Amino acid sequence: MQKSIERIAGDSEGVSYEFPTFRFDGSDKAATSAYLQAALHAGELPGVVAIDALMPMLEKAEAEGRIKGNITVVPQANPIGRAQYHFGEHQGRFHLGTRTNFNRGFPLLAAPDTTLLPDTTLGTADQRLKTRLLQLSIGHDIVLDVHCDDEGLAYLYVHTSLWPEMADCAAAMGVDAVVLWDEDTDGTFEGASITPYLNVPADVARFDRCVATTVEYRGILDVDGALAASDAEGLYRLLVARGVIVDQALPAPGGFTGSNSFTGIVALLENIDMMPAPRAGAILYSVKPGDRVEKGALLATIVHAPGEAGGRTQVFAPQAGIILTRRSRRIIRAGEDLLKLVGDRKSADARSGTLED
Ligand SMILES: [Zn+2]
Repeated sequence: MQKSIERIAGDSEGVSYEFPTFRFDGSDKAATSAYLQAALHAGELPGVVAIDALMPMLEKAEAEGRIKGNITVVPQANPIGRAQYHFGEHQGRFHLGTRTNFNRGFPLLAAPDTTLLPDTTLGTADQRLKTRLLQLSIGHDIVLDVHCDDEGLAYLYVHTSLWPEMADCAAAMGVDAVVLWDEDTDGTFEGASITPYLNVPADVARFDRCVATTVEYRGILDVDGALAASDAEGLYRLLVARGVIVDQALPAPGGFTGSNSFTGIVALLENIDMMPAPRAGAILYSVKPGDRVEKGALLATIVHAPGEAGGRTQVFAPQAGIILTRRSRRIIRAGEDLLKLVGDRKSADARSGTLED
């Protein structure tokens, strides 16, 4: 394993950022390669601790000569966001200098060729970071971008072109749900990882071995040793299931297909109801992630005028489905989203493009 330090020039003299990358050289150049990164939204740490738990497993595999494909690991992908505090509160989602979401604005290339990336020398630091992350990731068969939600189940975003081929990955990782999407106009990292392959010949795209996903490892507060250990095992099982690592004790490639394939929730992005709050106030949730609700079920009560008659407003399920996520804070403004309800059918309020990953 080789550690190297990436440096990103800041936007003013004397400021720069750095983050480590770890590379494991595979013994078989034809084997599937993998790129893992976490904390692109810098405060989302469940994936960081999962990778911390994964690294000894990779080092053991390397010591035993079991790593077949090249592996690149970036445990903390966003040193700019990591350093952003505003009046004591960490701000890891948007670049304060440009108000741009760190997981938007990635270049959507026409082919998997890093020479097509824009010259960001004259851009802003967040653009340089995004270019560098794509330089590091493009060319790997497996690209995992590990995030988390507010409070939620473990789930994956997957492009429709990779489904159901990626069902073995979802099964190996042990996630609860998969959300399928088909259009990214905003330039998420995942979109920038899959888009270059959408318009190239099938023998180049290799969707049978290609994996690109945004992993949502539950909620922002789910930074926990036991979860980190089990998530690390899930990531490791994926690497074994796709032939990046050999481990005789685990299901080999093909082991998570057929009767062992994914049995969790699979839903189109357009089926998700985000439930914008009708009033501002304090949220009293009646549901939690994982709950199954029927149409008309009480989802939440917003206390908008405490102590007054009529000071509570109830929000009901517009359709039957499963609660995927909810907010971690209980304060809300009118129009902000209360939760994600994975409906059985298309949402009347279906949003195009990406949600909140
Ligand atoms: Zn995120």
